[in-house]
Amino acid sequence: MEKILISACLLRQKVRYNGRDLPQSSPILECWEKEGRLVSFCPEVEAGLPTPRACVEIIPGTERLEDETGKDYSDAFQRGARLCLELCRRYGIKTAILAENSPSCGSTMVYDGSFTGRKIPGQGVTAALLASEGIRVYSQHKLDKISARLDEPGK
Ligand code: SF4
Repeated sequence: MEKILISACLLRQKVRYNGRDLPQSSPILECWEKEGRLVSFCPEVEAGLPTPRACVEIIPGTERLEDETGKDYSDAFQRGARLCLELCRRYGIKTAILAENSPSCGSTMVYDGSFTGRKIPGQGVTAALLASEGIRVYSQHKLDKISARLDEPGK
């Protein structure tokens, strides 16, 4: 059975920067969880960052990730992304469900670096690395797309 990576916060783990989770109400996810198809992972926690932790955003036009005081978190976020890729390789994972808007996990949108809540098109560090290695990255809002592909024989 093909495994799917999922952001840990989407699977009821309270690992977000604010100490909360981002639970999803989805029969599709429930089914995949019961099947044992889902592998959950939080790149930021696995990189050694605490929970709760500072709110970090990608600084546009750079590869830097900073909190509101300008403290640099780039190394930790990149380490988390590499650990996530290693996990995907270990399980032969080709598909990831990643929490939208996160500076690690956002697959199509991220916050714009102004710490005002504004979002812009873009990818978080982990999503970008996985995508560059050929792993399909989707937000939690695109489960139907993944489901349609898994319905193909042999998946
Ligand atoms: Fe969720 Fe990803 Fe943020 Fe971890 S890094 S809390 S998995 S969005």
